[in-house]
Amino acid sequence: MGLVYLKDVTTLTLHPEKCIGCELCTQVCPHLVFTMENKKARIANKEACMECGACATNCPAAAISVHSGVG
Ligand code: SF4
Ligand code: SF4
Repeated sequence: MGLVYLKDVTTLTLHPEKCIGCELCTQVCPHLVFTMENKKARIANKEACMECGACATNCPAAAISVHSGVG
């Protein structure tokens, strides 16, 4: 498994009801934070998030929010 950054401080939030299942977040995240489950993204490894913002930037459904550079 990847590096664990810091526990319980990441601002990463996923809104599954908005997710359209495009899988982009699983492809752009450098730390494999997301996984797909029943055609929806799920946060599988939240502590690995380093808040780079790539997932939120690339999500076409605005289902992800993260404050880049915080924490
Ligand atoms: S902010 Fe970066 S590290 Fe965190 S889940 Fe999104 S793509 Fe992955
Ligand atoms: S990028 Fe957004 S819409 Fe696409 S799978 Fe991830 S959360 Fe869902």
